[in-house]
Amino acid sequence: QCVAVCPTGALTEKDYTWDVVSALADPEKTVVVQVAPAVRAALGEEFGMEPGTLVTGKIVTALKKLGFDNVFDTDFAADLTIMEEASEFLDRLTRHLEGDKTVKLPILTSCCPAWVKFFEHQFPEMKDIPSTAKSPQQMFGAIAKSYYAEKIGVKRENMVVVSIMPCLAKKYEVGRDEFKVDGNPDVDISISTRELARMIKQFNIDFVDLEDQEFDNPLGESTGAGVIFGATGGVIEAAVRTAYEWVTKEELKDVNFTSFRGLDGIKSATVKVGDLDLNIGIAHGLGNARKLLEDIKSGKSKFHAIEIMACPGGCIGGGGQPYHHGDLDILKKRAEAIYREDEGKAIRKSHENPYIKELYSTYLGSPLGEKAHHLLHTHYFNRK
Ligand code: SF4
Repeated sequence: QCVAVCPTGALTEKDYTWDVVSALADPEKTVVVQVAPAVRAALGEEFGMEPGTLVTGKIVTALKKLGFDNVFDTDFAADLTIMEEASEFLDRLTRHLEGDKTVKLPILTSCCPAWVKFFEHQFPEMKDIPSTAKSPQQMFGAIAKSYYAEKIGVKRENMVVVSIMPCLAKKYEVGRDEFKVDGNPDVDISISTRELARMIKQFNIDFVDLEDQEFDNPLGESTGAGVIFGATGGVIEAAVRTAYEWVTKEELKDVNFTSFRGLDGIKSATVKVGDLDLNIGIAHGLGNARKLLEDIKSGKSKFHAIEIMACPGGCIGGGGQPYHHGDLDILKKRAEAIYREDEGKAIRKSHENPYIKELYSTYLGSPLGEKAHHLLHTHYFNRK
């Protein structure tokens, strides 16, 4: 009942660190972990570091010290999300422009489980508008327990997938029945940034002085587009970087869509993609989302695509992050850290991630293809 009241899950916070410790202690299990983008911009605060300090490499080292078999990056799955979501968007847009009246636009992003739960309860009549792409957390789990488990010869039931998330709603998301195969969940345990900090302290790891290490591959390689999922506007910016090149067949010279960024509650921008003026809407906070949904319902919406995230600032302000007590300055610094990491990446467009290309060419086939659809897409429910 509380989750219905607070879709972000902040009223039902549970500590799952003991479950993680138990999995790590089980010699029968291969335990892999994924780290969401927003975590690296905030975890340092739990250890007295300045807001906005990037601690990506230290997180990898800490997780290896805790005993995980592989330390992977949710940003890889964010790149995968873009492959599917941008394909779905362009498919819908093309059919819409060709006059197909059955196609619904705008398309809405679907990577925030609190937002998904919100529209399932409050706007179930619009449940066919959001993208069917699973969230990066769930895409990661589905790929880890199929592609990666097969690659290393581990049975699905002997693999434990742990996720480190800025989010409390992700704990609820991992338990949804549609993300299980014969009762075995794609992601077994989701813990928050604060829970990871507690574990690091309990294991007496001197986090501040840790050396940096790189994520493992193949599920640890990501582009700058995957990183920016952590800030409001980032998911749609990543999608437009890819959609632009797929539509125009030209290189996108400047990948920085600065009009998508910042902490205004509702943002809008128009982007020229070939001959088309693409109208983009962005909302963070469910009150702002409601306004955009009411516009869609009354036929007033001018947008082709809308990104919605439940938390202020997007995942950087998530309910599982170090408390920011509404201090916008802290959120700004975390967002700056996210965009700094993006700037520092050699590859900044999801479709150029070499490990994503390999995943499609050797395992998935094409975006929206049969296997991709089976593993990477979902459906929604009327929960009114
Ligand atoms: Fe979780 Fe991010 Fe959604 Fe907040 S915005 S509920 S942190 S997915």
